[in-house]
Amino acid sequence: MKVLSDYKKCTGCGACSQICPKNAIVMKPDDEGFLYPEINSSLCIDCDTCRKICPQNGKDYVNDGSVKFWGGMIKDEATLMKSSSGGAFSAVCRILDDDAIICGATYDDKLNVHHTWCSNGDGIDIFRKSKYLQSDVGEIYIKIKNFLSEGRTVLFSGTACQVAGLYAYLGGKPEKLYTVDLICHGVPSQKVFDCYIHSLEKHKKTKITRFSFRDKSNFLGDWEIGTAFGNDKKQKHQAWGQDFYMSGFLRALFYRPVCYSCQYANSEIKRPADLTIGDFWGSKSVNPLYDDKKGSSLIVVNSEKGDFLIEKMKKVMDLTSVNREQAVKENRNLIEPTKENPKREEFFNRLNQGQDFITIMKDYRKGKSHSQIVRVLVTKVAPFLVEHKRKKVRKERQSRM
Ligand SMILES: Cc1cc2nc3c(=O)[nH]c(=O)nc-3n(C[C@H](O)[C@H](O)[C@H](O)COP(=O)(O)OP(=O)(O)OC[C@H]3O[C@@H](n4cnc5c(N)ncnc54)[C@H](O)[C@@H]3O)c2cc1C
Repeated sequence: MKVLSDYKKCTGCGACSQICPKNAIVMKPDDEGFLYPEINSSLCIDCDTCRKICPQNGKDYVNDGSVKFWGGMIKDEATLMKSSSGGAFSAVCRILDDDAIICGATYDDKLNVHHTWCSNGDGIDIFRKSKYLQSDVGEIYIKIKNFLSEGRTVLFSGTACQVAGLYAYLGGKPEKLYTVDLICHGVPSQKVFDCYIHSLEKHKKTKITRFSFRDKSNFLGDWEIGTAFGNDKKQKHQAWGQDFYMSGFLRALFYRPVCYSCQYANSEIKRPADLTIGDFWGSKSVNPLYDDKKGSSLIVVNSEKGDFLIEKMKKVMDLTSVNREQAVKENRNLIEPTKENPKREEFFNRLNQGQDFITIMKDYRKGKSHSQIVRVLVTKVAPFLVEHKRKKVRKERQSRM
């Protein structure tokens, strides 16, 4: 018994498991570590609710594609330095009521990434910083339904498939629910991240207690990974490009299978959340105040509620309206999914044979990643070719005169 006939289409949003009236569905990891629903046939009453609500089976709650784009940086420098990009997530929290409920992804003490909630305020710090793997939503949709039924305002932030899963579970878009989804390369599994952490611990011969994918605390003008070994005094920083996990992430080596055909990364920009947020590459060219090394946000407004939020966010962020071309120029994941790395299957075979993560990655991180190549093509090669063509046309005209 399956929720989806083609189980590889499953995003792992968990709506089926949380809605099941008999608690017959459990999310279990497959051999790559991605969570999939497993139906206990002795508890199942064949009500079909799980199949009817699955966003991959029909209704995916996307907006109509009439979007607006903004670039921005949060005005408060301390919050900017604590945020992954330009602090758009914190800005949304800041304009909501003090008693609003905020839901997002955080680590537990074993570095498992999962969704949880807190009251608005300083507590939202646990959600800051991107964790580049799939967060386990657990029973967060059930919690959100309870908060909404008590009349509370709720902000949910997650990947587009998780936002669609939440709406599917709730059966619509309640008035007091605000949602933010992320521009997304794709998500690796907790198992891949765990293998990396264990491998790093083995190579460094010490325990890792904290990990940050987007560390600005030792900020030398480029993106850094921050790893705390044993205690905070031993904190190590290294450039993104040198990190073995990020090398595989940027090369699309180990995402969830459905990410390579993600329906939310589409050229019409039809997405489920009220706002979509990501990094605003090339932001300096639209506003000299922005600095994509310090972090700036690209914000896509997808709904009327999104319009309402962005109007209020103008108080706490320096915002600039941008056009579609400026928005997607260096952020292709907004309009298309990442292409699968042909070595993906080989990578998982080696990992499942028990080979050491770092040893495997040493074989795969030669050459530039797909996103590095796209960025070089868009920012360096394309303008060069255009200029070259212009010069040629000019020369031809002059020679005809
Ligand atoms: C897996 C993943 C892939 C991404 N890929 C891209 C990309 O290709 N291009 C791009 O421009 N931006 C991408 N981003 C988004 C970017 O890294 C920032 O998260 C985003 O710009 C928000 O920055 P901020 O400064 O507003 O937020 P911060 O204050 O740092 O907050 C981060 C927000 O992201 C949420 N979050 C963190 N980790 C996860 C997770 N694993 N699952 C669900 N929600 C999470 C938190 O709940 C919080 O709301 C990705 C993020 C993730 C998690």
